Amino acid sequence: CINQSAMDSVKMEKAEKYLSDHKIRPVFEYLTAHIIKTRPSHPLDAMILSLQELKANGLDGKKKPTVIFVLGGPGAGKGTNCQKLVQEYGFVHLSAGDLLRAAKQTDSDEGRLIAECIKNGDIVPGHITISLLKQAMNKDLDAIYLIDGFPREIKQGIEFERDITPCRFVLFFECDEDILVKRLLKRGETSNRTDDNEESIKKRLATYHNQSLPVIDYFDCYDKVKKINSAGTMDEVWDNVKKSVSSLL
Ligand code: UDP
Ligand code: MG
Repeated sequence: CINQSAMDSVKMEKAEKYLSDHKIRPVFEYLTAHIIKTRPSHPLDAMILSLQELKANGLDGKKKPTVIFVLGGPGAGKGTNCQKLVQEYGFVHLSAGDLLRAAKQTDSDEGRLIAECIKNGDIVPGHITISLLKQAMNKDLDAIYLIDGFPREIKQGIEFERDITPCRFVLFFECDEDILVKRLLKRGETSNRTDDNEESIKKRLATYHNQSLPVIDYFDCYDKVKKINSAGTMDEVWDNVKKSVSSLL
């Protein structure tokens, strides 16, 4: 009898450890509570159904949108290919940079701070960008959002995933720096952007290497990164994007 209870306690400990290591305790508790409450005649089917609901709506019961982060250096082709993805798959494109450029027009301290950060190639404080993204995403929770140019640093990624939803995957546009610089200077001839000039480009690239590239390693740990070679022509890059995205959907 003593042996039996010792064995039970070892089993309990193992079960507890498994639940906490795999972070499934809340899910397990939600499912068992649901089964006890509803006493369905087919408990397994009911569990599968509520797992599917849980996946769509999250533990707090609120529906979450689907998010794909689109990352890469400045001038890597994020915006161009996002527009094509919108046409091909009906995704909704949210460029963090565009949202910030619109917000910087407001005559306020926040507007001035955003303008300063953009010109200097610095990262705008995460809570500002996250709040703009949140506002834009509240409009349609059934959409698949391409979040372009965000998160710019690991902390922003963690905060976004905690407050809004975990991303489905990350599209990472890989390209050598000399090609990026050439593209940005060319774009600068017509873009009218305050940061498409030699001095700002240098600062943007430094910020990218020091703060934004580690975001890729972070998501790589979760096996969420799809790398896309974006050094070729627009058609070649779009071909790579289509292949990657269709294999992920
Ligand atoms: N930016 C930011 N947070 C973001 C996205 C953009 O702070 O999540 C700022 C940053 O100063 C960046 C600028 O906006 O250099 C332009 O960003 P955008 O993504 O439009 O340009 P890209 O780097 O893709 O050329
Ligand atoms: Mg862009």
